[in-house]
Order: sequence, then structure tokens, then C-alpha cells
Amino acid sequence: MSERPPAYEREPYRTALETAVVATGAEGGRPWAVLEDTILYPEGGGQPSDRGTLNGVAVVDVQKKDGAIRHALAAPVAAGPARVRLDWERRFDHMQQHTGQHLLSAVAQDRFGWETTAFHLGPEVSDVELAAPSLSAADLGRLEEAVAVEIRAARPVRPRRVTLDEFRALPVRTRGLPEGFAGDVRLVEIEGVDLNTCGGTHLSNTAEIEIVSLLGTEPLRGGTRVFFAAGGRARRRTARHEARNAALRAALGAPDEGLLDAAKAKLAQLAEAQKAARRAEEELAWAAADALLAGGGRVARAHFEGRDTAYLQAVARRFAAAAGPRAALLTASREGQHVFALAAGDGFGDAQALGREVAALLGGKGGGAGRVFQGRAKDLSGVEGALGRLAREGAGSS
Ligand SMILES: [Zn+2]
Repeated sequence: MSERPPAYEREPYRTALETAVVATGAEGGRPWAVLEDTILYPEGGGQPSDRGTLNGVAVVDVQKKDGAIRHALAAPVAAGPARVRLDWERRFDHMQQHTGQHLLSAVAQDRFGWETTAFHLGPEVSDVELAAPSLSAADLGRLEEAVAVEIRAARPVRPRRVTLDEFRALPVRTRGLPEGFAGDVRLVEIEGVDLNTCGGTHLSNTAEIEIVSLLGTEPLRGGTRVFFAAGGRARRRTARHEARNAALRAALGAPDEGLLDAAKAKLAQLAEAQKAARRAEEELAWAAADALLAGGGRVARAHFEGRDTAYLQAVARRFAAAAGPRAALLTASREGQHVFALAAGDGFGDAQALGREVAALLGGKGGGAGRVFQGRAKDLSGVEGALGRLAREGAGSS
């Protein structure tokens, strides 16, 4: 037999351990320690690494490296006696997701013929990739119910190590051992449901999974990714949904069943109101253009506080269309931003060439088409200079 497996594997429910620091070092400025034995699981097999403390110092990561288990630390520790504590809440959550995945994968394959090709344990939700082209909501419902039956059956979950010869004689569900694998093979059995190779930490009974809640699907590489949450995560998720629904009921004044319709009605109202506001703004812009056209002078000037480029363009287009040999320099300011538009009527001059000059005089830039040029201005201190330039153009063309 090979050497004794680490404590996290022998006793996955153990939360404290007296051991010893046997090696220390640092990598990338991060101190690490190797222990005689450890209850902290190193990342692997889709399960994230554990957290905890080593002699009171935070363990921020655990990784297998060069045959040893390295505990990355928030501060250096000395060689010698060590007390390790496990962040049990995090670990138990991982054990619920991980054991839930074993059960989900076994049921999906044996009852439905959907083989698992990948597993990810995420911080909020986890997923399995199933070799199924697509899954309907009814499929998901049947799968979730079949998993729930096995959770209620409270089936024992047992890890064990076997020799390679024993392994080859057993009906193990596995994607194969690594090339050149030697030593014992670790198996995890869910009594009557699954026998799998796995080095992770597991619950001792399917009842402790509590629930596997299937959240939705996403097509992926010809298969289907199924998102799920197990155990406490699923319950906390339900609590968040309930709180959100309560807030939405209060905000929209509708019961749960009416929330979607209420939200859709509000969005439709908003779209109508925006359309009406745009129409009113356009009418206002036309009135402003008409007032400028009714005024005298070759070069009209107007400032619109609180308006934007779209408004200036609407004024400018209406002005330019009827201006003849006249121009208008329009500016607007909103929230510290300044914009301008130049409208040059037929016979005034080249609006685009003049626009670029005006933009330079205003310390900004812009662009346009036809008789309207618009852009941003650094500030409005250059307006007088720009008006002077336009006045010369107006005089030259008359
Ligand atoms: Zn496992």
C-alpha cells in the first residue's frame, strides 16, 4: 500500500488538526508552508481549494505542487508545531455542491442517457455539461425530481482506495486515469447509484445534499450546460428570490403572477412617453428655428441651456433648409458639457469647411453632412471669434 492519504481525505468532517510545518518558502512574494498532514483540500477535480488558518495566519489558497500540498499564507509562519483550522462553512458548501454533482451526473446518465462531460463548481452557481443536444423545461423537471428521489433515499456515500487491479475489475464510472498512473485509486460510492473515481471531499449521505435545484440550461459545443445549486446555496437563493419578488410587488403594485405583465405595461408606457417627449422637443426646436429665421442679420446666434446635440441638429436642419444666404451658430450646455451646431443656408458658404474652422475656434471637434455641422466645444469662450469668422464669410458672399 502507498502512504497514508491526507486528513481531509480520511476525515472530511474534521475542522481542526494538530500537525507540524515541515517546509516553508515564498513564491511571487506569497509565503507558503507544507505540513506533515492537512485538513485543507487543495484545488482539484473541479472543487476549489479550502480556506482556514495555520497558527492563526489566514490560508488564502491550497495547491498541489511537486508532490506536496502548499498552503499559501497571508504572512510567513515558522517551522514546528502547527494548528490548522478549516473554514467549515465554505467546505460544507463545496461538499454539498460536489456530492450533489456526483448524484446529478449519475442520475442523468443512468436514467436519461445524458453523460456528464465537464463540471464547474462556481462561487454562486455550478454546472455540469451533459451530452444532450437540448433539454426542455419538462426534461429538467424530470431530472430534478429523479435526483430528489435519491436525496430522500438517504443513500450512504463512501470513499475508499483500491489497487489498480481491483479498480480494473470494478464497474467504475470514470473518464480514465492519467497516463502512467501508479498507486491506489480513490473511489467514491453512492450506495446503489454510483461508483466513481474522485479525490474530492464528499458528504457521508445523500440526505445532507438537501436539494439539487436545476436553474436553467445553455447550449454548448453540441451539448447542454445545466446550471444548478445544491443545499444551503439553493435555500439562500430562494430567500433572495423571495426578497426580490417582495420588493417588486411593492414597486409595481402587483402580485407575483402579475409582475411580468406589470413590468411590460410600464415599459410600454415609458416608450410612449419618450415618443411624445421627442415629438414635443422637435416642435420646440422648429419654433426656435422659425424665431431665428424671423430675426434679422446674416449670422444668427442662439444658446440653449440644458439641451443636447440632437436638439441643436433639429434647430439647425430646419433653419438651414429655409435660411438662404444666412447662417446660424447654435450652442447648448448640459452638465458641464458644451456642444455646438452650425447651420449654413444655401448660398452662405461651405458648411463643412466653416464648421471645421468654428470647431477649432471653440477648442473642439465635430463633423456633419450637407448644410449642418455639429460637434463638441471645450467651452464657449471662442463663440465671439467664431461669430466674427462667420460674419466675414457672410460679407464675402453677398
Ligand atoms: Zn467527488
